[in-house]
Amino acid sequence: MDLGIKEKKAIVCASSKGLGKGCALSLAREGVNVTICARTEETLEEAADEIRALGGGAVTMVACDITTEDGQKAVLAACPAPDILINNAGGPAPGDFRDWDRETWIAALDANMLTAIFLIKATVDGMIERRFGRIVNITSSAVKAPIEILGLSNGARSGLTGFVAGLARKTVAANVTINNILPGPFDTERMHANIKVNAEKAGLSVEEMTKRKAAANPAGRFGDPNEFGELCAFVCSAQAGYITGQNLLIDGGGFPGTF
Ligand code: NAD
Repeated sequence: MDLGIKEKKAIVCASSKGLGKGCALSLAREGVNVTICARTEETLEEAADEIRALGGGAVTMVACDITTEDGQKAVLAACPAPDILINNAGGPAPGDFRDWDRETWIAALDANMLTAIFLIKATVDGMIERRFGRIVNITSSAVKAPIEILGLSNGARSGLTGFVAGLARKTVAANVTINNILPGPFDTERMHANIKVNAEKAGLSVEEMTKRKAAANPAGRFGDPNEFGELCAFVCSAQAGYITGQNLLIDGGGFPGTF
């Protein structure tokens, strides 16, 4: 299926590894020119090489912290008029809410709520003028079913979800859609770091906890970041202009509800 987005321009945030890289790979394979970012130049270059090897769209790299104003400015300077914006950042650390002070909460809100909102603010009017735009926020299954140790994530991402729900109904008439994709457990560094915390809490080895977590998912495994990228690319396709304001769960059936 031709997704109809060849030569479109995309900003893919936090994309040297994991789900962000999965999205950049799938978009570039469709011929989208991608601007990728992460804080570490070295891993960013490795990701760029991997994307270039596909022979699809061009890659521009920006080494920055996307949760800062300077980082956002740098990415927007490299790609001032994106057709596609994939919002992503590292997730907050797990813990107990009793230990989190105001500063900790503000950092989580900056990373997982406000950065996305400010990047949307900077790009959405141009998309509306050009009558094409696809914005995808990488959030979490925690928005549908909270994860106990990830209270910062549960809270910050729900705030973003609430904001997007309103705006997504305003922009769609101009063929600009805004959706959230909610990952369940995906095989990334982030997930393995969380498993380590869970293993320590439960007094189990990391290997045992990894095995149990994978077996607990109805699919009997973790998701592959490339599977996530393919869904993201479809949501960004020309064909997906009637999908907006949605929270698309991709979790191997982990969420047990009917809807
Ligand atoms: P990951 O740790 O594997 O990759 C994160 C990527 O973001 C890396 O490229 C890293 O360099 C980059 N990054 C992190 N902070 C950044 C910053 N401030 N500025 C620029 N780049 C930054 O993580 P992942 O598993 O791909 O997760 C992506 C998002 O999805 C996170 O917010 C995570 O909490 C969320 N999530 C992941 C899972 C999962 O199972 N993997 C499940 C639910 C939610």
